[in-house]
Amino acid sequence: MQPDVLVDITGIPELKRVEENADAIIVGACVTHADIEDGRVPDVTGGALPDVARGIAYRAVRNRGTLGGSLSHADPSADWVASLAAIGASVLIRGPAGSRSLAVEDFVTGVFEVALDPGEILEAVRIPRLSRSARWGYYKICRKTGELAQAIGAVLHDPERSAFRAVIGATESTPIVFSDAASLFGGTLRAGLPAAFDAGAAARVLSAAGMTDPYDNQIHVVALKRAIDRARLA
Ligand SMILES: Cc1cc2nc3c(=O)[nH]c(=O)nc-3n(C[C@H](O)[C@H](O)[C@H](O)COP(=O)(O)OP(=O)(O)OC[C@H]3O[C@@H](n4cnc5c(N)ncnc54)[C@H](O)[C@@H]3O)c2cc1C
Repeated sequence: MQPDVLVDITGIPELKRVEENADAIIVGACVTHADIEDGRVPDVTGGALPDVARGIAYRAVRNRGTLGGSLSHADPSADWVASLAAIGASVLIRGPAGSRSLAVEDFVTGVFEVALDPGEILEAVRIPRLSRSARWGYYKICRKTGELAQAIGAVLHDPERSAFRAVIGATESTPIVFSDAASLFGGTLRAGLPAAFDAGAAARVLSAAGMTDPYDNQIHVVALKRAIDRARLA
């Protein structure tokens, strides 16, 4: 099916705006992956998001692909869908009835489906400022560079903000978000955390979500395990 009209929104300056405050950064929907990779957007995540950007496809895609386009497209394998859900980001939506805000995990409602009503657009993304002591790990399994992920794991531990979150992404559905990731570590947060990771708990959550194929289940658990190892939580 061909559209009757194609509107390029990337020339709207408000959609490229970047505003920083003490708690967060508001990044316009048309900011590109390369803008984040290159540091044209101030980094409030201790390098976490520039690293995610760098791992998206290859440079030509990153030059044109946008934060808002990636989230609105809602490909389950998209890096921003999983990573921004893990970091606790939210989207700012603008439409004829006004503005509203949703957590990323509530915005992405299905495979290529988001909670936009007719006439609404994603205006910006609010990314919380991580504290200096925050630990972040992200791991993407894909066959070769430039491909979308087969499995994604992400974990954030930011005690100063009382945030301990994890995400399993690229699940062929919405990302699985653990808003309290302690459930993956026997319910408590203690020294030696990577060793305490309960892979069985993650596997059971995946099975309950319908991922019963042993290989698929396993690579998603492995992606999360490697993200946890990268976060060096202990
Ligand atoms: C070869 C290739 C490899 C890729 N590899 C990866 C990868 O490894 N990881 C990854 O995460 N992504 C990957 N992508 C996706 C890419 O990074 C882009 O995010 C994606 O193609 C969306 O592009 P775009 O931002 O130009 O949005 P568009 O293609 O312009 O838009 C996508 C959809 O969202 C809608 N839309 C766009 N902006 C808004 C808005 N502000 N509000 C409401 N709706 C909006 C559009 O109408 C359209 O339906 C890849 C893409 C390609 C082509």
